[in-house]
Amino acid sequence: MTRIAIIGGGVAAHTTLKSYLAAAGGDRDPSTDTVDIFTTEPHAPYRRPEVNKGMLLTGKTPAEVALPGGILTEPGVTLHLSTVVTAVDPAAHTLTAGDTTYAWDRLVFATGAGPRLLDPTTNPWLADRDVHYIRTPEHSAALRTRLAGLAPTDTVVVVGGGVLGLEAASAAATLSDAQVHVLEMGDEVCARMLPPTASRWLRDRHAEHGVTVTCGLDAAALAAQIDRLDPTVVVVSVGAVRDTMLAEDAGIAVGERPGAGIIVDPAGRTSAPDVWAAGDCVEVHGEVDGVPVIVRPEDEGSARTLGTLVGRQLAATGTAAATAERGSYLTEQRRGWTNQYGLMLNIVGDAGTASDDRREQVELSSPEELVVFTVASGAPGAGDVVTGVTTVGRSPEVRAAKNALGTVLTA
Ligand SMILES: Cc1cc2nc3c(=O)[nH]c(=O)nc-3n(C[C@H](O)[C@H](O)[C@H](O)COP(=O)(O)OP(=O)(O)OC[C@H]3O[C@@H](n4cnc5c(N)ncnc54)[C@H](O)[C@@H]3O)c2cc1C
Repeated sequence: MTRIAIIGGGVAAHTTLKSYLAAAGGDRDPSTDTVDIFTTEPHAPYRRPEVNKGMLLTGKTPAEVALPGGILTEPGVTLHLSTVVTAVDPAAHTLTAGDTTYAWDRLVFATGAGPRLLDPTTNPWLADRDVHYIRTPEHSAALRTRLAGLAPTDTVVVVGGGVLGLEAASAAATLSDAQVHVLEMGDEVCARMLPPTASRWLRDRHAEHGVTVTCGLDAAALAAQIDRLDPTVVVVSVGAVRDTMLAEDAGIAVGERPGAGIIVDPAGRTSAPDVWAAGDCVEVHGEVDGVPVIVRPEDEGSARTLGTLVGRQLAATGTAAATAERGSYLTEQRRGWTNQYGLMLNIVGDAGTASDDRREQVELSSPEELVVFTVASGAPGAGDVVTGVTTVGRSPEVRAAKNALGTVLTA
């Protein structure tokens, strides 16, 4: 008998379940090997990236972008919608939701993250403004309705020039007649995730659609810009806060703030026995080439990768089997994407150039196509290595470039 509990109803929870069921296969007896999935949301698991794509742009419903539902109705699997887990007791192996206490043998936190909310006391410009955040279908529906009603004399300001902020700006420019401005505190948009040429490429696409992007604003300059623009609608997209509170209250190790996640090893194991975590709620502690690293995933691919690893371990029995099944998130290839104005920008590997030993190498750049390699210095005489590939387009040249990850470049 194995009773599994998964807290969360996003892609990490869904992938964990899928991986567990596949790994357990015919060994599982659904009358005793049960899975309970708890989600605060009223919707069955859906693809969150669609919140600011299909849902915002075309009004799709969560059901229309749902993750495959068949596994949720497998015998022994129970999905608890609109159910908040309020406490976890790792020693007793129980959790509490509403008035009910559930016993579990193996537990997974897949609690995700929420938008980082700005504090009105330190950001007085928020007062009396129509402020939107975007994380849930409900956020999306409210913003979509609002944008559709705007006139050319109206102004939308997006605070934050990360990927989600730029996607919101492209939606605002597509759905409304308003003037759209993006205000970014850093020196460049998407600087953490993209090489500089790709960031500039995105800015150029926004300029073509009449969106003004202003970077390098400190808090005072940001407030002054908002006063000047007097926006009808403000969309705030300044990052996510990992949902760690439940784990923290249960005495499970959580990282240091800001940015804290539930600490897991590269296989998704937390500090508590029989407890794993996957998706946006975690920070992964491990080593790459003998160097300690902490990775804080915030993308769908990472949630799927960790969920897959965790699901396999849930199904494994016996110490040897569990060890063999573990695997490592840090050795899996990372993939990300953003879709703006119908143009899909793909990232394979680690494409940011924030560290000193990284540089970019531009292979191709036009309004329709882009290929940029992110290159790390190799050992002396050994050549440089492609650590990330950023592309737009589908031509044979662009497709071929995606295979360059890990290639050693001759000097
Ligand atoms: C608008 C938007 C656009 C995005 N676009 C992209 C993209 O283009 N590409 C990409 O790779 N990534 C994108 N992302 C990121 C990606 O969606 C996330 O990385 C991924 O969805 C994380 O999945 P998750 O399951 O960890 O968390 P979530 O999807 O946040 O799910 C967490 C779940 O946990 C539940 N929960 C939390 N606490 C409790 C509790 N106490 N009790 C019960 N349930 C609880 C919540 O209700 C929720 O259902 C986007 C994110 C957003 C917000």
